[in-house]
Formats: sequence, C-alpha cells, structure tokens
Amino acid sequence: MQTLPQKAASDQPLANKVVIVTGGARGLGEATCKCLAEAGLKVVVADVQPTLAEQLVAKIQEQAGDAIALPLDVSDPDQSKKLIDQVLDHYGKIDVLINNAGIDVTLSVEELDVRDWQRVMGVNLNGPFYMSKAVFSHLREQGGGHIINIVSTAAKRAWANASVYHASKWGLLGFSQALHVEGRPHNIKVTSVIAGGMRTPFLLERFPDIDVNTLQDPMNVAETIKYLLMQPKDTVISEIMVLPMKETSWP
Ligand code: NAD
Repeated sequence: MQTLPQKAASDQPLANKVVIVTGGARGLGEATCKCLAEAGLKVVVADVQPTLAEQLVAKIQEQAGDAIALPLDVSDPDQSKKLIDQVLDHYGKIDVLINNAGIDVTLSVEELDVRDWQRVMGVNLNGPFYMSKAVFSHLREQGGGHIINIVSTAAKRAWANASVYHASKWGLLGFSQALHVEGRPHNIKVTSVIAGGMRTPFLLERFPDIDVNTLQDPMNVAETIKYLLMQPKDTVISEIMVLPMKETSWP
C-alpha cells in the first residue's frame, strides 16, 4: 500500500477540518473529495450511490486520507437532517458543507414532464436549502464555517432543452447570495462556484460526442475550492467563475 509522505502541520492549514461533499462519489464531487483529503481534511462522501461512495473512500484511505461514506438523497429533508447528525456523531463537528450534487434532464419545455421538473429542482435547489438549513445552527454555535454551492454558467445565460437546470441553478445562485448575507454576522462564509463545462459523467454520459477538449478537468475546479477554503478568516470570496479556456457556454 502506497502512502503519502507525512506533511508538517504548517503545510496543511486545513488539516482536521471536517467537510461534507454532497454528490461526492464521482465527477467534481470525487475530485473535490480527493483534493481536500490530500489537504488533510476529514471528508464525508455523501451520495445517492453508496457503493461508488464506498469505493472512493477506500481509495482515499489507501492514500492515508481520512474519509467516510454516507448514503444521502439531498432531495429528502429528513435524510439531510439525519446526515448532519451522523457526521456530528462521527467527527464531533462540521466545518465545511459543499452542496455539489446536481442532475439535469435534457428536454424541451414541451417534452419535460412535471415530475422531471420537480426531481431536478428537488436535487439542485431544494437539496442545498435542506442541507444548509440542517447545518446552519451548528456552524453558528461553533462560531463559523463555510458553505460552498456549486452553481453553473447555466445561472448566467440560457441554452435550449435545459429549462429546469437553468431555473434550478439561477435559483441556487440567488439562494447562495441570500445565505451569504445571513451567514456573515455569524462568521459563516458562503461561496457560489460558477463552474463551466467539466469532463465528468454528467456531460459525457448524456453527450458522448462532445468535444472533450472544450471541457476542463474537474480537479481544476476542486483546486479552486481548496483555494476558497484557504482564505484568511476576515475574507470571503462570495462568488467565483471557473471556466475552461474553450468554454462554449460563456462568451
Ligand atoms: P456527475 O453526474 O458526474 O456527479 C454527480 C454526483 O451527484 C453523482 O455521484 C451522483 O450520484 C450524485 N447525486 C445525484 N443525485 C443525488 C442526490 N439526490 N443526492 C445525493 N447525491 C446525488 O456530475 P458533476 O459534473 O460532477 O456535477 C457536480 C456539480 O457540478 C453539479 O451540481 C452540476 O450541476 C455542476 N456543474 C457541472 C458542470 C459540468 O460540466 N459537468 C458544469 C457546471 C456545473
């Protein structure tokens, strides 16, 4: 088993912080879990695909990282609340919540079923609300924390056959800004990460012919998330846009 060389505490300013990554089992979530575990954080891989989450935890542990997998459907408020309690039981605290889980249904408004609309809104918009609400009082009582919402260029402009995705991400950006205002007095930082196209199953499974050269490595966005967490106590980056050089969904 190959292990990482031990790093001095000063090399790991984020060491021992506890982070929850929703949708952490694959794609950007997976890259974020790996990146933050390597930076010394204790990582909760919370995903609706528990087997995938457990496989990732095994990989992180092989690299001497600290991680656990917990099943979670973010669109269920009871599960969101239970997950926060489980993490507090296991690690005793939570420092960072990353609302990353997201889905899309690629259909026109005419074709889109009402249940599909509700499902996408349930995961992309209701989920971050349920999770943030469940964790907020803990962060306030602890004296601070950080909530990061994974948004998209879909919150800035529109393309066809993605109406519910646009509505959910536009809504998430608004929710994130409102949460930022409410969090500040309690030392709770809130950041919206507006990501452009990434090489993840989210796009590659739906659009197998997509030119992967127009997409960025999700690890680049994960490194940006680590950078957000490294800011001094008295500074918050409330919004950041991370685009591939050949982004097609942004001018
Ligand atoms: P992905 O489909 O590759 O991975 C998403 C993960 O979320 C999966 O592990 C999945 O099991 C999990 N998930 C789905 N529904 C869930 C639920 N109800 N509860 C808990 N987990 C759930 O997607 P990705 O590309 O890694 O996307 C991550 C985030 O980045 C999403 O919010 C997405 O909207 C956003 N984003 C993606 C792109 C892109 O080009 N891939 C661009 C901008 C923003």
